Amino acid sequence: MQFGPAAALPFSCTMAMRPGMGDNGRMTDILLATLNARYSHASLGLRCLRANLGALHGRSAIKEFVIGQKTEETAEAILAENPKILGLGVYIWNCEESLKLVLMLKALDPGLVIVLGGPEVSYETGEQAICAAADYTITGWGDISFAQLCAQIFAGQAPEAKIIPGIQAKLPDLVSPYGEYTEEDIRQRHLYVEASRGCPFKCEFCLSALDKTAWPFPLEAFLADLEMLWQKGARQFKFVDRTFNLKIDTSLRIMDFFLDKIEKDPDDMPFAHFELIPDHLPDRLKEAILRFPAGTLQFEIGIQTFNVEVQERISRRQKNDLARENILWLGESTGAHLHVDLIAGLPGESIESFADGFDRLVALKPDEVQFGILKRLRGAPIARHTADFQLRFNPAPPYNILSTDCISFPEMQQLSRFSRYWDMLANSGRYALTLQLILADSPFWNFHRLTAWLYARTRQTHAIAHERMVHLVHEYLITERHLDPAQVSDALIKDYRGTGGRSRLRFEDEKAELPLPKARKVKAHTPDRQARHLQA
Ligand code: SF4
Repeated sequence: MQFGPAAALPFSCTMAMRPGMGDNGRMTDILLATLNARYSHASLGLRCLRANLGALHGRSAIKEFVIGQKTEETAEAILAENPKILGLGVYIWNCEESLKLVLMLKALDPGLVIVLGGPEVSYETGEQAICAAADYTITGWGDISFAQLCAQIFAGQAPEAKIIPGIQAKLPDLVSPYGEYTEEDIRQRHLYVEASRGCPFKCEFCLSALDKTAWPFPLEAFLADLEMLWQKGARQFKFVDRTFNLKIDTSLRIMDFFLDKIEKDPDDMPFAHFELIPDHLPDRLKEAILRFPAGTLQFEIGIQTFNVEVQERISRRQKNDLARENILWLGESTGAHLHVDLIAGLPGESIESFADGFDRLVALKPDEVQFGILKRLRGAPIARHTADFQLRFNPAPPYNILSTDCISFPEMQQLSRFSRYWDMLANSGRYALTLQLILADSPFWNFHRLTAWLYARTRQTHAIAHERMVHLVHEYLITERHLDPAQVSDALIKDYRGTGGRSRLRFEDEKAELPLPKARKVKAHTPDRQARHLQA
């Protein structure tokens, strides 16, 4: 697991004076922390590090925070544990707040040894203020290297080098992290699991392109861990494997684990999320997928672009016809929830080409189209196209593309707003009938026009209340698209009521009865948004 030197400080002297007893009464010499994007995301990385601390395990603890919290409060909570070493996970979503945190901690307690890790600090470390401010940065895999570094520091042999290349462990040698999930994690949070690490493909926008291949964890031990989590009450499992369907025998064993649970107790079903490559669904995998009831499986499928020239340019291997055929089959024949990714702003891809790919994808009717904007992840090979295609990236996180030789900055801004409104109107699952009216026979351009109108009216892409959006869409479809008012009202009322809306809409008949809340039909541990798509 990725986890990623002030000059060698007299760590051992400073630490000798520090009792290491936190306000929880435990010895917390080593505190592992990160700022998650949401409370519901339990960090697998921290749990991998702690599980592999060996003899130091009993002197360690995990403390997780959520972005948006005041830095002072986070610093206060960390220092209350009185750690000697802080291991901090740095990711694209938390790197700016993490920098503030490191600077504040160093101001408050210069003797605290701060060790950074994570994909955001695994490359270009020399350019990053956070790496300069921290004591150490472990690049790449940290499972073994973090434990070794802690042991060296406690032995008074702190290394001089600030940047420590992480040792890539053999996966069978690692202690599994799943025992680190607490009862609260199991009850309330997404449980991330991994049956393999790495990816054999080379898509240049992706950091996994730097992996040489994919490495599997020992399967029997992994299945035993799944069973342990199941027995403790876990029902939602998010697989972080970059490609779940690489080795079909392994995929089938894991699917059989869940199918067995479903067959034993259909009233207590799991929800499992996997990332798939779309052009590799052999019949025996299809047969297994068919056996899962609706609401129990979710597939995240990367298409990114249907433009063959762009695919070649970014080294993405994909058989488009087979991918299309398989997505269509998954949508029509199975109960799996489909979440398919496209990326705008790839080198050499115009808006027209993107629009064509978008329409082709919408025609396959996945439950969600994740419309992403290209980002320049630190270390990702996509940067080699910067000059040839005039790629201009935001220098600050999330390093999103601002313009290319084909797409101007204002056009990219429009695409970015399209993506936001698409999440609200399409991916939310709240406008299933109305969306058909909006998209009609030209999904991309019709939604693009709606985007321009919505933004001109609201100047907002966030925090638009659901009821307000319903009325805006109503107005747009009637005044701008000149659709039949009765048809528009009918679709919006059905969508609004069907997803639990209980207010009186302005265009509703005043005498119409307000309905009771709708009962969920899908009986499983299916998240709400996915359940809405399945009911649509
Ligand atoms: S985009 Fe997916 S398939 Fe391509 S390198 Fe990244 S993880 Fe692998």
